[in-house]
Amino acid sequence: MYHHIRQPVSFSSRAERRLTVTPEVFDRQMKYLQENGYHVIPFASLVGYLKRESELPDKPVIISFDDGWEDQFVNALPRLEEYHYNATFFVITNFIDAPGFLSWPQLRRILAAGMEIGSHTRSHPRLDKIKNPGMLWDQIYASKQTLESQLGAAVEEFAYPFGSYNAAAASMVRSAGYSAARACCIGRVQSDAYALRAVMAPNDLAKFGKYLGAPPVSARARSKSPRGRAGW
Ligand SMILES: [Zn+2]
Repeated sequence: MYHHIRQPVSFSSRAERRLTVTPEVFDRQMKYLQENGYHVIPFASLVGYLKRESELPDKPVIISFDDGWEDQFVNALPRLEEYHYNATFFVITNFIDAPGFLSWPQLRRILAAGMEIGSHTRSHPRLDKIKNPGMLWDQIYASKQTLESQLGAAVEEFAYPFGSYNAAAASMVRSAGYSAARACCIGRVQSDAYALRAVMAPNDLAKFGKYLGAPPVSARARSKSPRGRAGW
């Protein structure tokens, strides 16, 4: 999981810095995947595997980008195309076309490059804090409708803002017609397509390799994995 792909700016907060990978490090990470036999797959391949409809290649990896920052288009998309990697861009629909965020033409260009666009809600709230089912549905379903009508493509993936969700949110994501939902870096059962875990990519090649090389959490495991472990 990536957020900003850019040079750190001097006014970055610690949190912002943590969410930033420089274009140089990103390029080396993409190269690392290629040189170390990783196979970049779309979410659909993982979903097929979890439904026991298809197998996964060795060392599978999913690349995704959160929050719809314009620097992902400027600095990451060309690298992804160069390596022929697929990636999913999770966008916040209310922020599309805002300064610093992806525009509709950029989203169309990303789709045309063979990438996926997923929903990251309308306004990036913590879904587990929303009690009103209508408001929850609006965040989850209206964002999908907006993307699909503007882009003319199916939107199959969802990412929970801050990785936070509860049973009501996960079940609504399923009802809205998504086939997978990604959370964040906390211990979750990987066999549930609506509770997928992720690793936040560090701005460091050695750590990146270490995280990827950590013992994988079995996709079909029923038990909870240890908290905080960096799996794939
Ligand atoms: Zn986010």
